[in-house]
Amino acid sequence: MVNGMEDSLERIRSAGLKTTVQRVSVYETLQSMGHATCDAVFDKVRERIPTISLATVYSVLRSFSEKGLIRELTLYNDKVVFDITPEDHYHFVCLRCGRIEDLSVGTCPYPGEVDASIERFCGVYYGLCGDCKNEEVE
Ligand SMILES: [Zn+2]
Ligand SMILES: [Zn+2]
Repeated sequence: MVNGMEDSLERIRSAGLKTTVQRVSVYETLQSMGHATCDAVFDKVRERIPTISLATVYSVLRSFSEKGLIRELTLYNDKVVFDITPEDHYHFVCLRCGRIEDLSVGTCPYPGEVDASIERFCGVYYGLCGDCKNEEVE
Protein backbone atom coordinates (compact mmCIF):
# COMPACT_ATOMS: atom_id res chain seq x y z
CA MET A 1 0.00 0.00 0.00
CA VAL A 2 3.00 2.29 -0.48
CA ASN A 3 1.41 3.92 -3.49
CA GLY A 4 -1.90 4.52 -1.74
CA MET A 5 -0.04 6.10 1.13
CA GLU A 6 1.91 8.52 -1.07
CA ASP A 7 -1.26 9.35 -2.87
CA SER A 8 -3.11 10.29 0.29
CA LEU A 9 -0.21 12.40 1.57
CA GLU A 10 -0.02 14.17 -1.77
CA ARG A 11 -3.75 14.85 -1.83
CA ILE A 12 -3.81 16.25 1.67
CA ARG A 13 -0.83 18.45 0.88
CA SER A 14 -2.26 19.71 -2.38
CA ALA A 15 -5.44 20.71 -0.54
CA GLY A 16 -3.23 23.08 1.47
CA LEU A 17 -3.26 21.06 4.70
CA LYS A 18 -0.34 19.79 6.70
CA THR A 19 -0.08 16.01 6.77
CA THR A 20 -0.57 14.77 10.30
CA VAL A 21 -0.98 11.18 11.46
CA GLN A 22 -4.63 11.94 12.27
CA ARG A 23 -5.39 13.49 8.89
CA VAL A 24 -3.67 10.71 6.94
CA SER A 25 -5.47 8.02 8.96
CA VAL A 26 -8.87 9.68 8.58
CA TYR A 27 -8.32 10.17 4.85
CA GLU A 28 -7.19 6.60 4.25
CA THR A 29 -10.03 5.23 6.35
CA LEU A 30 -12.61 7.15 4.35
CA GLN A 31 -10.80 6.06 1.18
CA SER A 32 -11.29 2.41 2.17
CA MET A 33 -14.97 3.02 2.91
CA GLY A 34 -15.92 5.31 0.02
CA HIS A 35 -18.84 6.93 1.82
CA ALA A 36 -19.22 6.97 5.58
CA THR A 37 -20.70 8.89 8.47
CA CYS A 38 -18.38 10.54 10.95
CA ASP A 39 -19.27 7.86 13.53
CA ALA A 40 -18.38 5.04 11.15
CA VAL A 41 -15.04 6.68 10.24
CA PHE A 42 -14.35 7.18 13.94
CA ASP A 43 -14.97 3.49 14.68
CA LYS A 44 -12.48 2.44 12.03
CA VAL A 45 -9.82 5.08 12.71
CA ARG A 46 -9.75 3.99 16.34
CA GLU A 47 -8.32 0.67 15.19
CA ARG A 48 -5.28 2.63 13.99
CA ILE A 49 -5.21 5.43 16.57
CA PRO A 50 -6.92 4.22 19.76
CA THR A 51 -6.56 7.64 21.44
CA ILE A 52 -8.27 9.70 18.71
CA SER A 53 -11.52 11.42 19.70
CA LEU A 54 -14.78 11.71 17.78
CA ALA A 55 -14.41 15.51 17.87
CA THR A 56 -10.99 15.25 16.19
CA VAL A 57 -12.31 12.95 13.48
CA TYR A 58 -15.19 15.34 12.88
CA SER A 59 -12.97 18.40 12.64
CA VAL A 60 -10.57 16.60 10.28
CA LEU A 61 -13.48 15.56 8.03
CA ARG A 62 -14.86 19.11 8.10
CA SER A 63 -11.51 20.61 7.16
CA PHE A 64 -11.16 18.14 4.27
CA SER A 65 -14.64 19.05 3.10
CA GLU A 66 -13.97 22.80 3.35
CA LYS A 67 -10.81 22.36 1.27
CA GLY A 68 -12.69 20.38 -1.37
CA LEU A 69 -10.70 17.22 -0.72
CA ILE A 70 -13.81 15.22 0.10
CA ARG A 71 -17.50 15.96 -0.12
CA GLU A 72 -20.26 16.10 2.44
CA LEU A 73 -23.67 14.71 1.50
CA THR A 74 -26.82 15.28 3.47
CA LEU A 75 -29.26 12.48 2.79
CA TYR A 76 -33.05 12.59 3.02
CA ASN A 77 -33.03 11.50 6.66
CA ASP A 78 -30.62 14.33 7.54
CA LYS A 79 -27.85 11.77 7.84
CA VAL A 80 -24.53 13.39 6.91
CA VAL A 81 -22.20 11.19 4.94
CA PHE A 82 -18.66 12.02 3.88
CA ASP A 83 -17.66 11.03 0.37
CA ILE A 84 -14.06 10.41 -0.73
CA THR A 85 -14.93 11.56 -4.26
CA PRO A 86 -15.18 15.35 -4.38
CA GLU A 87 -16.19 15.57 -8.05
CA ASP A 88 -19.87 16.01 -8.96
CA HIS A 89 -21.58 12.65 -9.29
CA TYR A 90 -24.90 10.95 -8.77
CA HIS A 91 -25.64 8.50 -5.97
CA PHE A 92 -27.87 5.57 -5.35
CA VAL A 93 -28.92 5.10 -1.72
CA CYS A 94 -30.67 1.95 -0.51
CA LEU A 95 -33.57 2.87 1.75
CA ARG A 96 -33.32 -0.40 3.61
CA CYS A 97 -29.63 -1.16 4.25
CA GLY A 98 -28.25 2.32 3.65
CA ARG A 99 -25.80 1.20 0.97
CA ILE A 100 -24.47 4.13 -1.05
CA GLU A 101 -23.17 3.65 -4.57
CA ASP A 102 -21.60 6.16 -6.95
CA LEU A 103 -23.21 6.34 -10.34
CA SER A 104 -20.92 7.13 -13.20
CA VAL A 105 -23.40 9.24 -15.12
CA GLY A 106 -21.95 12.15 -17.05
CA THR A 107 -22.54 15.71 -15.97
CA CYS A 108 -26.19 16.54 -15.60
CA PRO A 109 -27.23 19.37 -17.91
CA TYR A 110 -28.59 22.29 -15.92
CA PRO A 111 -32.26 22.72 -16.85
CA GLY A 112 -31.79 26.49 -16.79
CA GLU A 113 -35.16 27.24 -15.22
CA VAL A 114 -33.51 29.58 -12.75
CA ASP A 115 -30.92 32.11 -13.84
CA ALA A 116 -27.96 31.08 -11.72
CA SER A 117 -24.33 30.12 -11.88
CA ILE A 118 -24.04 26.51 -10.77
CA GLU A 119 -21.22 25.62 -8.43
CA ARG A 120 -22.03 22.07 -7.53
CA PHE A 121 -24.51 19.35 -8.20
CA CYS A 122 -25.66 16.39 -6.16
CA GLY A 123 -28.33 14.02 -7.45
CA VAL A 124 -29.46 11.09 -5.33
CA TYR A 125 -31.67 8.18 -6.32
CA TYR A 126 -33.36 6.33 -3.45
CA GLY A 127 -34.61 2.78 -3.67
CA LEU A 128 -33.80 -0.80 -2.79
CA CYS A 129 -30.41 -2.27 -3.71
CA GLY A 130 -30.16 -5.66 -5.44
CA ASP A 131 -29.78 -7.61 -2.19
CA CYS A 132 -32.66 -5.86 -0.42
CA LYS A 133 -34.88 -6.09 -3.50
CA ASN A 134 -34.36 -9.88 -3.57
CA GLU A 135 -35.15 -10.20 0.14
CA GLU A 136 -38.38 -8.34 -0.43
CA VAL A 137 -39.46 -10.88 -3.05
CA GLU A 138 -38.73 -13.97 -0.94
ZN1 LIG B 1 -30.00 -2.53 0.45
ZN1 LIG C 1 -20.11 9.38 -3.92
